[in-house]
Amino acid sequence: VDVRDRTVRFHTARGEAVAVNHVSFDVRSGEVLGLIGESGCGKSVTLRALMKLLPPARTTITGGVQVDGRDVLAMNERELGDYRGGTTAMIFQDPALALDPVYTIGQQIGEAVQRHTGCSKAQARDRAQALLEQVKVPSARSRLDNYPHEMSGGMRQRAMIALALSCNPKLVLADEPTTALDATVQIQVLLIIRELQQRLGMSAVFVTHDLGVAAEICDRIAVMYAGRIVETGTVGDVLQRPQHPYTQALLASTIHGSMRGTRIDGIPGAPPDLTRLPAGCAFRERCSKAMAQCASEVPPHMPVHDGGQAACWLLANP
Ligand code: SF4
Repeated sequence: VDVRDRTVRFHTARGEAVAVNHVSFDVRSGEVLGLIGESGCGKSVTLRALMKLLPPARTTITGGVQVDGRDVLAMNERELGDYRGGTTAMIFQDPALALDPVYTIGQQIGEAVQRHTGCSKAQARDRAQALLEQVKVPSARSRLDNYPHEMSGGMRQRAMIALALSCNPKLVLADEPTTALDATVQIQVLLIIRELQQRLGMSAVFVTHDLGVAAEICDRIAVMYAGRIVETGTVGDVLQRPQHPYTQALLASTIHGSMRGTRIDGIPGAPPDLTRLPAGCAFRERCSKAMAQCASEVPPHMPVHDGGQAACWLLANP
């Protein structure tokens, strides 16, 4: 995946909202990139733009997106049909909404397999069963005839992962795929995704606001704030040696076991209105280290740790 200078603007009743603002990143073959940040920072829009899933009448997209050497923005409807579910598959947050309630799990996976491989119905059903077994659904043969409402949340999410994998995608886009699950099921599903991603050698972009989930599954992390990427690096560097004040504040406000009895430092204030972005650094109003320069100019990306980058004037003027 090669995303260059991507900007996504939504035309809203209140004006133009810049949901993704000059974002660039790449994802190498077999790598998992985590997009993290608060709600509304542009993570999910960035992901949907990779699938060209945004409403064209109300959206302006600029910049380049190449996946597996192909320009996604230039694809016509037929090419997009092959790309979605073929080269690239998506796992959504809520399988209850993503799966079709009036078709069985077997019909939904089987249809995707037939659509992309042209195999027979019987072969597609066998492949659907094998996929359910891969994602550790017990009694996979009989589960093929279940409707989504006949399965638990965890089983539905596994079925959706099976659906996403049905055509051997090279890239999986996961939008908070475990947020709707309880904690024990969440870790089971995460381990399944990680194991399949490694075994099948797929690349993945994983959106989450949960730093624990990011630590579990990602190789590299891109931290987003107000539509921009403010820090990137390996998961170890970003989570253990954060360089950007926003990443530092995000980590300081995250709960973990060793913090029992201590007070959590929340981040004061709220992210800016995307229809009225301030000049300079968008984090300025909430940043305890802000300087005069932060109000006038957007900070450039500066190299930090091993191959990472962070966009903060403190790094440009050490
Ligand atoms: Fe804070 Fe300035 Fe760095 Fe923005 S550029 S994070 S306001 S110090």
